[in-house]
Amino acid sequence: MNTKSRLKSVTNRIKQAEEKYGRSPDSVQLLAVSKVHPAEKIREAHAAGQTWFGENYLQEALDKMEQLSDLDLDWHFIGAIQSNKTRQIAEHFNWAHGVNSIKVARRLGEQRPDSLDPINICLQVNISGEESKSGISPDTVITIARDVMQIPGIKLRGLMAIPEYSADFEQQRKPFRKLRELLEQSNQQGMEMDTLSMGMSGDMEAAIAEGATIVRIGTDIFGERPKKQG
Ligand SMILES: *Cc1c(COP(=O)(O)O)cnc(C)c1O
Repeated sequence: MNTKSRLKSVTNRIKQAEEKYGRSPDSVQLLAVSKVHPAEKIREAHAAGQTWFGENYLQEALDKMEQLSDLDLDWHFIGAIQSNKTRQIAEHFNWAHGVNSIKVARRLGEQRPDSLDPINICLQVNISGEESKSGISPDTVITIARDVMQIPGIKLRGLMAIPEYSADFEQQRKPFRKLRELLEQSNQQGMEMDTLSMGMSGDMEAAIAEGATIVRIGTDIFGERPKKQG
């Protein structure tokens, strides 16, 4: 299958899941995760109507932006963010999904050029409590969100998570439900977050069932990722 038909099949699955789980039409946005794939694939997806693209590796993303500068694309940084990368993320991306500390949020805000709208951010939550995963602990979300929402130059949009892998649908739903409940609790405490960035190729439907507003899909759109060189 080519990129266009894979993309169509993913958007159909999103529509079906919205219907099945009582979500409003178009309440779930598709972020096409293009990391490791060449710029040409992004061009194909764009020709088929896709405008949101997610990248994990800064230098690779900057190279693609240059190659695709003739297109009007919305770039999302979805990888973990190291402090020494914040300037270029603040200058080149509209969204950062992997914000994992107040320090990183503050740097993104300070380094966001005045000529641009505030950068949209999601706090990454280590929802399954895995040691290997980046993200803030669930019980610190409200405290950290309260600080982060005051920072100029950024707009706190919501929460993001990559749960522990499970092949079972009901098991997949649990961490997503937990993330949704955290968002609801934060909003009851005065935050105004509207985004749940959750769900990847293997667990997209479970995430939509639990309220995802952005699903981040790589493999099901672009195929298996080639091994990264070097
Ligand atoms: C790679 C990646 C994805 C996409 O994963 P697929 O399983 O290929 O759909 C989504 N989110 C993050 C943070 C990723 O790093």
